[in-house]
Formats: sequence, structure tokens, C-alpha cells
Amino acid sequence: MSGSYILGPEVARFEKEFARFCGAAHAVGVASGTDALELALKAVGIKPGDIVATVSFTFIATADAILHVGAKPLFVDIDPATYTMDPKDLSTRITALPPAQRKKLKAVIPVHLYGHPCDMDGIMRIAKKHGLFVIEDAAQSAGAAWKGKPIGSFGDAGCFSFFPTKNLGGCGDGGIVTVQSARLADRLRLLRVHGRHGREFQAELGRNSRLDELQASILRVKLRKLRGWVSRRRGIGKAFSRAVSGLPGLTPPTEKPGAKHAFHLYVLRSDDREAVQRKLLKAGITTQVYYSIPVHHQPLHRKANRFLRLPETEKASREVFSVPLYPEMTRAQQQRICRALRDC
Ligand SMILES: *Cc1c(COP(=O)(O)O)cnc(C)c1O
Repeated sequence: MSGSYILGPEVARFEKEFARFCGAAHAVGVASGTDALELALKAVGIKPGDIVATVSFTFIATADAILHVGAKPLFVDIDPATYTMDPKDLSTRITALPPAQRKKLKAVIPVHLYGHPCDMDGIMRIAKKHGLFVIEDAAQSAGAAWKGKPIGSFGDAGCFSFFPTKNLGGCGDGGIVTVQSARLADRLRLLRVHGRHGREFQAELGRNSRLDELQASILRVKLRKLRGWVSRRRGIGKAFSRAVSGLPGLTPPTEKPGAKHAFHLYVLRSDDREAVQRKLLKAGITTQVYYSIPVHHQPLHRKANRFLRLPETEKASREVFSVPLYPEMTRAQQQRICRALRDC
């Protein structure tokens, strides 16, 4: 190592390599995926009082970033097949806004959930029509693509997390923002160091949100393996889906035509979730639920959204659960999960 600990040559190299991986012009390393979202919103100019459309069926951090810049989320329902933002519902909810509110709507954050990319054709079309910035929440989907194009290269910014459990995980926290415009990249580079320009002059209020050399050097090594890991995840995901296809009461994940699913999580649904989870646990398979509480039901958002109905989001939050999936899984481990799924 060089003797720099933060934002040194390893970070600069990793930023170049990650940008290339995503087919983006630039990438700017930050301290976490949540910071990536917040700084991206700030960099495109989202201000207190603005409105940002996103989904409620996501990790809380997506909506946190909107609140941190003083904006308000407009929650949109999901496509029940892919668990990602439904472009039709986005369009409907924008049209339903009173004109004064519609003027405040400035951006949309589609979330590529569980590794499945959003329908970026639909979302980009609507964003263009209404003049919205597009900030992709790609925290769960490094390695996913839509119609052959890597996610993180569609919108004004793509936000990734290197939290240890993500598809590309560091040995600690980290995040990155991919952008196409050099001006936005410069702005992000300013915002991650207190808005400081040079040593002394402060251009604006920024944050302390920096990627360190140790994480970057680990991530550089892991990035070279990511394609291989994603292809293993896809192979295992497909084996699980073959095992459960045709079973009554269990719906495996789908891969929409045009989508390349990165299988960050293998998520099934059942209308009798607790019973299925109990049976799997008896067979020694632990399951998880992401997410049983939609963001609009969380205390921070409940009051502002008390009349909001998101039927597909609410249904998914009652039905989804995931079984373990990771690239190093052995054949025997995979078969045990397949057998347990069939038996329940
Ligand atoms: C993990 C995650 C984040 C936040 O990333 P951190 O690095 O943990 O801050 C944001 N959005 C989604 C969808 C995530 O899964």
C-alpha cells in the first residue's frame, strides 16, 4: 500500500475499473450505499420540499436518502412478477398528482431489487416525459443487466453498496456512484469531502463520505471475480426454480424477458409463508424475509402515507421469503435445499 489510507491510488483505480464494469463514464467511491443515494440526489440538485418517486418495497435506506436531503418520497407500487417498480403505476401516480405537487417532483429512484433489474425502458420513457432525474438504486444488483446493458448505466446516477452481504461486498462498509456526466462526477467528488475545494476553500455543504484504500484494494480483487460469481448464482437460482416449478403454493422468482437477474437473493412467495418457513426450518434450512414491513408502513412514513394503498407491495410483504444462495454453495447443499422445497 502507498501510505494513503483514504481516497488514494487504490480508490482511483477501483473507480476506473468499476465504471468500466458498469459501462459508465465515471464512478465516485463513497462510504456506503446509503451515502451514494443521498449524495447522488444532492448532486443532481434535489432540494428540501422536492418530491422523489420510488418504491415502498425496498430496504429502508432508499427512502432515508430522500428524507436526508429534505425531500418527500412518492411511493409507487411494484410489478408482482419482478418485485420492482411498475412503470404503469409510476405513470398513473404522477398523473394523479395535483399540479403544484407535480412541479415539485424532480427525480425517480427505481430499485433493482434482489438482483432483478427494473424495466428501464418503461422507467426512462416516463422520466424523460416528465423531466425527472433517474437515480438507480443498484445496491443489490451489481452484475445485473437490462437488455444487455449493465444496470447503473441507464440513469443520471447508479448507486451501489459494498456492504459485506451484497453481490460485491467489501470487508466493511463502502459504496460508489456511477455517472455519465463529468460535471456530476466532479460535484460528487466535492460533496464527499465536505464540499471542500482544494485545501481551504469550502464551496458548499457536503459530507464526510469517503472510500478507504483497504476496502478499494479488496474490492479490486473481488471485482475481477464478480462475473463468475454472478454466473454461479444464476446457475444455482435456475436449479432451485426447476426444483419448485409446478409445485402448488410456491411461486419461484421469474426473470423477465430482457432481464439478466444477478440473484442477490433467491426469493419465493407463498400465501402460507409461516407454515412453509417452519417446514423448511425443520429440514435444517433457514429462511429470511425481505421485506415484511413496506417502507410506507414504517413509523417515519406512516403519517404522511396513511391513505396510501399499494396492493402489490402489501401482498408481497406478506408472502415473500428467501432461501440461502451464494456462489460457493456445493452441489450437496443445493440438492438439500431443492429437496426441502419439494417436500414442503
Ligand atoms: C443495502 C442497500 C442500501 C444501502 O446500502 P448500505 O451500503 O448498507 O448503506 C440501499 N438500498 C438497497 C436496496 C439496499 O439493499
